[in-house]
Amino acid sequence: MLRAIHHGDVLQLHGSTRVSRLIDYAVSAYVVRGVMIDTSFPYLRGELDAWLAHNRVEGALVTHRHEDHAGNIALLAARGIPVGMATETLASVRSPRSIGMYRRVTWGSAAPLPQDPAPFAHSALALLPTPGHTSDHHVVWDAERETLFCGDLFIGVKVRIAHPREDVRGTVSSLRAMVALRPARVFDAHRGLLTNPVGSLTAKADWMEEMFGRIESHADRGWPAPRIRDAVLGREDLTGWASAGDYSRLNFVESVLASRAALGTVPGSTAGPPGE
Ligand SMILES: [Zn+2]
Repeated sequence: MLRAIHHGDVLQLHGSTRVSRLIDYAVSAYVVRGVMIDTSFPYLRGELDAWLAHNRVEGALVTHRHEDHAGNIALLAARGIPVGMATETLASVRSPRSIGMYRRVTWGSAAPLPQDPAPFAHSALALLPTPGHTSDHHVVWDAERETLFCGDLFIGVKVRIAHPREDVRGTVSSLRAMVALRPARVFDAHRGLLTNPVGSLTAKADWMEEMFGRIESHADRGWPAPRIRDAVLGREDLTGWASAGDYSRLNFVESVLASRAALGTVPGSTAGPPGE
């Protein structure tokens, strides 16, 4: 179900499915200055197609490769709408990797791109790299209107789960960089318009760093990752179980430990940074 919500100059296209509503989950694309930001998920292809038949967009910008953001690039390309995105995002949507059943049931799977969309850029909307959630993650920054479309950079303050290739330390660096821009408005892909934009982004970065400290102090005592998870973040919740480990608290702990090894703070470690 695609629902239009107006915020002055910004239109929110709020997308959900019967399954996603059961778990109180939704994802939004936005339209500002005649540009669509993100493309919603594959199950909404028909509704988005109908919306595009009645509403003109000049182009689209895509924040990252996940199917609930990049899921309808093929539709836009077929309609002749140019799409701006990182090279890495385009490479990923050309041949999407298979996704877990949990995500397939919720959002649907994106088909490989039959044709690349024409490239797109907008002078007032900058795609800024903000890696962490994924290595190709970008936000869209409208400096003139002090408005940030933050994709999946935020999602919530105390997000205790991560996917296996997530770099949680990268997320904190990206959050701090966005706080430095002092955005007056932040539109999150899952939470919509944040009521306290700078405060929310800062609270998330602070909370995550507090968790990193606790995780590291237990690791210093030689605790294994599952024990650290139970002590710091708690046992897996429904999402961890339902996604068969695709999104889990253990991944959060392991991302902290892997990036710590990469930073060289663990003597003798030769581990590399988490791959994507
Ligand atoms: Zn994502």
